[in-house]
Amino acid sequence: MTSPERPGSAPLGGLALARGTVDRVTKRRTDKDWIDAAWKDPRTRVLVVHQGEALVRDDELVFVAPEEAPAGTRFLLGEDADGVVYFGVSGPLPAGGDGVRVASLREVGALLSDRDAGLLTHAVALANWHDTHVRCPLDGTPTVPDPAGHSTSCPTDGSEHFPRTDPAVIMLVTDPEDRCLLARNAAWPGRRVSILAGFVEPGESAEQAVIREVAEETGIRVTNVRYVASQPWPMPRSLMLGFRAEAPAGQVIMVDHEELAEARWWSRAGLLAALQAGELALPPSVSIARHIIEAWYGGSLPSTWTGPRS
Ligand SMILES: [Zn+2]
Repeated sequence: MTSPERPGSAPLGGLALARGTVDRVTKRRTDKDWIDAAWKDPRTRVLVVHQGEALVRDDELVFVAPEEAPAGTRFLLGEDADGVVYFGVSGPLPAGGDGVRVASLREVGALLSDRDAGLLTHAVALANWHDTHVRCPLDGTPTVPDPAGHSTSCPTDGSEHFPRTDPAVIMLVTDPEDRCLLARNAAWPGRRVSILAGFVEPGESAEQAVIREVAEETGIRVTNVRYVASQPWPMPRSLMLGFRAEAPAGQVIMVDHEELAEARWWSRAGLLAALQAGELALPPSVSIARHIIEAWYGGSLPSTWTGPRS
């Protein structure tokens, strides 16, 4: 498929971690009786997550019944179209049976069904927050989760606390020849390259962050910044906001070597040849970066990072 205004580009495909199908039933979060009844319902399924990992069998999540769930912080994930309620618990993973493996969201996010990808993304995000926000930031008192596990409160001063999400921008920059800017982070080994990214700072718009980050890391001044898509990236708590931006002619890349090892412009043909020759590797399909790069390219590309960070 080809975008009308940009020959050679394709629309952004389904983002792996933005596919949830389960209704979050937000109005039930304050209904303690409903939550208690759901927890007693034998049809209810509990997804146990521990440090960003869950049990998986044949690329499907392994759930347990409420009475089999370990002790740990509990949170309501939602209810599906058949009336099945899903909870998450942050606690030790139950013993797996035959064919069951422990997998991280990064490893299986693109392999799971739409329902399971959404549930695991939601559960990992909430578990990461609960695991690291256990005290009131005002006076240090241990906080108490609400019955649905979507907020906590301080028993001393009554202050309420809500899950944190850190917005980050990730942007594909093109030059007047429609070549794309790819960079290798100084911390990445080998041949890995990706598009530029960075956190939105307090008091800054996402578009301002795109312009600032590109200039800081490569010296390139971009214009025509436009949003394309987002996906949660709860590792530990980001929301990746994807953008395109254009670099007017006549600029020279000045790499900030504290952040990047290298950065350069790639034509479609040049990038494909370098990937096929094994000179470069792109981020995995679970990432929004891969999707934005392939949308610019106009189709799927070979080669993916391997190793623990893929
Ligand atoms: Zn407090």
